[in-house]
Amino acid sequence: MAAILPPAMLGILGGGQLGRMFVVAAKRMGYRVTVLDPDANAPAADFADVHLCAPFNDADALKTLAASCAAVTTEFENVNADAMRTLAKTTRVSPSGDCVAIAQDRIAEKSWINKAGLPTAPYLAIESVEDIQVELADYLPGILKTARLGYDGKGQMRVKTAAEARAAYADLGGQACVLEKMMDLQLEVSAIVTRTSSAQVAVFPVAENIHKNGILDESIVPARIAPELAASAQQMAIRLAEELNYVGVLAVEFFVLADNTLVVNEIAPRPHNSGHYTIDACLTDQYQQQVRAMCELLPGKTSLLSPVVMVNLLGDIWRDDGGEPNWAVLCETPNAHLHLYGKKQARVGRKMGHYCVLAANVDDALEQARALKDTL
Ligand code: ATP
Ligand code: MG
Repeated sequence: MAAILPPAMLGILGGGQLGRMFVVAAKRMGYRVTVLDPDANAPAADFADVHLCAPFNDADALKTLAASCAAVTTEFENVNADAMRTLAKTTRVSPSGDCVAIAQDRIAEKSWINKAGLPTAPYLAIESVEDIQVELADYLPGILKTARLGYDGKGQMRVKTAAEARAAYADLGGQACVLEKMMDLQLEVSAIVTRTSSAQVAVFPVAENIHKNGILDESIVPARIAPELAASAQQMAIRLAEELNYVGVLAVEFFVLADNTLVVNEIAPRPHNSGHYTIDACLTDQYQQQVRAMCELLPGKTSLLSPVVMVNLLGDIWRDDGGEPNWAVLCETPNAHLHLYGKKQARVGRKMGHYCVLAANVDDALEQARALKDTL
């Protein structure tokens, strides 16, 4: 397929922070961007050429997107996969609606991961109440997760016994779920791969991810794991992209178990929070890769320019009266980069921004990043 070159118009479904960083990357390269998002204050709208302020399934808005954009992508997986398939009839869409549909559904996702020959935590797919009336010992203690629409640890319940699992399933309204065995985690890492339709791939350095209350708090790069283990995570991400015939940026989250083996936790068919660091610390960032993949350009080089620590900024640190955190020290730190998403309302647990600290090694970066947190 012929490359799509600037100043072509690119489209994105969703205008949150991932969409915003995509728009910035595309605009910097000279593309124009149309964002579809029902929120008048969508973070990506600040930079977009065109903001279609309409629901994601709005037929007219989708028609406009297809007619005006040379290629369309998405910033989140809970977009209607059928809308993407419809768009794909008249314009280039990546990733495909089929891949997005897989990432939307933990049951489909896990079975694809296993099909690619990669391990997951032992899990039981529960499509209806009969499915949970079986011996559950292999999955306990475990976590019951809704198959759809979970994020940042939402839609999950930890259960110790079969009775608790069945009660939790009823509490979640009897919707499709997976019951996943609780694993003994040494740490969590992620690998983000870019793949083009001509099967060119590039994978970013592996990030070590520290979560707080089910939400990503810090990413540390390079991850503090053996280089062979990091290489194996990268290879697994590539294998999965190949198995899915994936086009675009694919994030793969892993658990590193106590015995130093990897299991895949989940995938995201888009740039990922744990890849924000690539903007400040890699030769090409994950949003540029998204642009490149959708435009049929070769993936950019992913070399790490410096050890880096990324810290998420949640609404929790905004003052109750809406007042801003004290940015002074962070802004005046020469090796720290602040990114704010322009969200009007700070709420507990809401991702408002992030910052990266670059230093000679991850220990120094981590120490400085944590000290900066205390100044906010
Ligand atoms: P996000 O959208 O932030 O990635 P999510 O809601 O999709 O999160 P998961 O990634 O499934 O949820 O789980 C959130 C976190 O809960 C994981 O990063 C991990 O810390 C913990 N967790 C999930 N499943 C397991 C498991 N089987 N064993 C141990 N810990 C787990
Ligand atoms: Mg996750």
